[in-house]
Amino acid sequence: MIAYTAEVRGPGKSLALVPTMGALHEGHLSLVRKARIQCDVVVVSIFVNPTQFGPNEDFARYPRNPEQDFDLLESSKVHAVFAPSVAEVFPAGFSTFVDPGPLANVLEGAQRPGHFRGVATVVLRLFNIVRPDIAFFGQKDFQQVVIIRRLVEDLNLPVRIVVCPIVREADGLARSSRNVYLSAEDRKAAALVPRSLKHAEAMAQSGEAEAQQLVEDITKTIDAEPRVHLDYAAIVNPATLEPVALALPGSVALVAARLGTVRLIDNLIFGPPGSSPELRLQLALTTPTAEKDSGSSPRPEIDRLRLKIENCRDCAAVTSISLPPREFLFKYVKRDYPDLGAIRSLVIGGCAPISPDGSIYCHPDTPNPFSLRLYELLGVANFEEFTARFALTDAARCHALGNRVDERTLEYCARHLREEFKLFPNLQSIVILGEYAYSQFQRHILSRERGAIRPFMDLLKTDGWAQETVRLPWYGERDLQVLYCYHPTFENKKSPSLAAHLTASLG
Ligand code: AMP
Repeated sequence: MIAYTAEVRGPGKSLALVPTMGALHEGHLSLVRKARIQCDVVVVSIFVNPTQFGPNEDFARYPRNPEQDFDLLESSKVHAVFAPSVAEVFPAGFSTFVDPGPLANVLEGAQRPGHFRGVATVVLRLFNIVRPDIAFFGQKDFQQVVIIRRLVEDLNLPVRIVVCPIVREADGLARSSRNVYLSAEDRKAAALVPRSLKHAEAMAQSGEAEAQQLVEDITKTIDAEPRVHLDYAAIVNPATLEPVALALPGSVALVAARLGTVRLIDNLIFGPPGSSPELRLQLALTTPTAEKDSGSSPRPEIDRLRLKIENCRDCAAVTSISLPPREFLFKYVKRDYPDLGAIRSLVIGGCAPISPDGSIYCHPDTPNPFSLRLYELLGVANFEEFTARFALTDAARCHALGNRVDERTLEYCARHLREEFKLFPNLQSIVILGEYAYSQFQRHILSRERGAIRPFMDLLKTDGWAQETVRLPWYGERDLQVLYCYHPTFENKKSPSLAAHLTASLG
């Protein structure tokens, strides 16, 4: 696997890892699908990790179904499956373990001592073997997600963690490899677990914010069914996993229950009525550790959204990022640009489209309002003429803030922009579309002080566009013509066609 990933990991290629314990179901496959969309190469690992099972737990009888797993992964078009033996992962003499600290001692950790030590250790080992750019985990194992994110943060692991919502059966039961062991009666009764969470959510939405009341309600619902034995129910701050007094948007209700010998876990993230699973994940994964949940009134959702993304690692942890942040243009370069040396102009837009479907590279033959106005601005007739001379990239690819792009996002994203410049050795000009790209270019590409930057609208006031000549030492010791103009989708102002200026700058 080390040799394989070294071979496939090329410049600009992104590598995904989806760690699993096999016995794959739709929950796992949702992660695989997300990984396929976001990354160039997808590796799925299948390893039933003995170190995360306690002595009296179900390691020996954990479901194993390798043939079916391989079939499913083959039809899901993953690039590689890593299914090592226990002796390979934990050879004789193995003795180093990761201690995830207090997060690992509560909830599941209290019921299953040593469980997360085993999880964190094997995940770190898998990360070091596969060295993925992005690793995909399910919200289903919420505490695991919190611990892995902490591990990545604390040990500076160079991987982004993407979290995907829970996939459920028709009656609400979370998909789990262990569901196959439920007897018919237990299977029926198991639906009570998600129902108890749903009921608590309905109470919360009708105004009951007291976590204790909600936990009592969950307990009451589950206790009504003698087949289901509740191990715990709790409502916690998702960053610290400590119980909260009030269930606010982003707080998480977690339950663990036993039916016969089968142990099930489930959770629910509280969110504004009607909010998507992705939004709820965003709220949970960006909740501050030291949230004051008592005394103060619940912060309106919009404030929360504003607070959300502090840096790109957080940003990549939420599922709404449908474009891989660094790798986007690289992906299309191979397909659309047979000769990178022919490209004379890099066009930098604002924020990459939330859905890849909105990108001109995804549907080159179907012009959209953006591409039509862009082509008009540049004086080209269609995608083919566009790709003969231009490449399009974006200032930012973080959608966590909706249409607002903050300073740190622009700063972070300038890194991948610099890499993209280097793809095209013969650039002569750069076209900057709109204010985000302008601000990023001035601050983080040209490294100008904020005070030295003329306001964008002021700069374009007279002619509707502006230009200057710059040098980017890391790109090459030669002049580049920069053309600044309004973003083509900007409703209020339109820049004149740049065709003549571009031709002039191309000589
Ligand atoms: P496991 O094989 O149970 O270790 O799960 C492998 C990955 O799949 C973990 O990141 C799980 O959280 C995720 N996963 C398991 N069940 C589901 C589900 N029902 N929905 C979404 N993700 C899931």
